[in-house]
Amino acid sequence: MNEQTKAIREQADRSQYREHSVPLYLTSSFIFDNAEQGRAIFAEEESGNVYSRYSNPNTTELINKVCNMEGAEAGLAFSSGMAAVFASFAALLKSGDHIVACRAVFGSTHQLFTKLFPRWGITTTYVDAGKPEDWEKAIQPNTRMIFLETPSNPGLELVDLEWLGKFKEKYPHIILNVDNCFATPYLQKPIPYGFDLVSHSATKYMDGQGRVLGGIVVGRKELIDELMFFIRNTGPALSPFNAWVISKSIETLGVRMDRHCSNALQVAQALEAHTDVEEVRYPFLPSHPQYELARRQMKAGGGIVTFVVKGGFERAKRFLDALNVILFTSNLGDSRTIATHPASTTHSKLSEAERIQLGIKPGSIRVSVGLEDSADIIADIEQALANS
Ligand SMILES: *Cc1c(COP(=O)(O)O)cnc(C)c1O
Repeated sequence: MNEQTKAIREQADRSQYREHSVPLYLTSSFIFDNAEQGRAIFAEEESGNVYSRYSNPNTTELINKVCNMEGAEAGLAFSSGMAAVFASFAALLKSGDHIVACRAVFGSTHQLFTKLFPRWGITTTYVDAGKPEDWEKAIQPNTRMIFLETPSNPGLELVDLEWLGKFKEKYPHIILNVDNCFATPYLQKPIPYGFDLVSHSATKYMDGQGRVLGGIVVGRKELIDELMFFIRNTGPALSPFNAWVISKSIETLGVRMDRHCSNALQVAQALEAHTDVEEVRYPFLPSHPQYELARRQMKAGGGIVTFVVKGGFERAKRFLDALNVILFTSNLGDSRTIATHPASTTHSKLSEAERIQLGIKPGSIRVSVGLEDSADIIADIEQALANS
């Protein structure tokens, strides 16, 4: 079956009530039919649910859907994207290990690398995503993991997944780990290139309506088994309710992403033609420096557009205040269009020079393009430019 069909038809087993839509299994634990079954399940001779910190029919359904889409052997669901990303490191690394990561990582991931992991003797070297030769230089004898995000937030720089997959073949002991949240498995599949782990904040496009937090890690079964040990004993499990919400949303992920992408491309084109805009970044604009790569590894350009308004920091803030339809909130991947000003919010703690390295200028605006009519989104941007 086609992956979209599977994303829609994969469902927890029907109960004796013959329901059409999957029920919400809001239960902390599960009954054993008899003492022998309890023993066998605990001994892992028989599979079955025990306790919702371990597994639950709603989370299993969600995991199966994401595994199908990513082409992964196994997966696990977490209470948030950061719980997933954190577990993908913490379950597999030990004191003395080294990570090589692309410079533009999600803010909390950057905090893990720079504040938390050094306390545990785990060090990180950043490299510039677009310069493949730099990855080679950064590898040390104790490097255990390569971590990246592509496209990056908010600079929309890409990392060549095929190149990195081949590069890693020289280092079989290094785990290749990617946060695929921005692209979603619908637009980009790292596993066929040789990636070992793929993590997601399901809070973003997978839920797609800004309701619940969730996270997923999928990948090679032997690594997922180690993560399973970690999640069972540390407890960052996804709630069945959130799993149920996200799993339902995945039925519409493909059609939503098609619309996010076509709207985002139209917004990017309109911005590129606007005289008050200095620069526009969107992977599927031919002016993007990695346009060819984007066409090769992504099905479409994604839902995020970043642009720089003329007039810098103050103009960018006035632009946000002048928006009527587009909302100002720090989430992304929502059905409603969202705009943010990274220099004064998410990236305000960085120095100007650090921001420039990440592609953030004083006048940079990140737009998470929603599912509204594209003409209404563009009209709101144009009137806010005119009135700021
Ligand atoms: C939002 C986000 C995260 C963190 O996810 P939460 O669900 O908010 O914990 C991690 N990586 C990327 C790229 C994100 O956009």
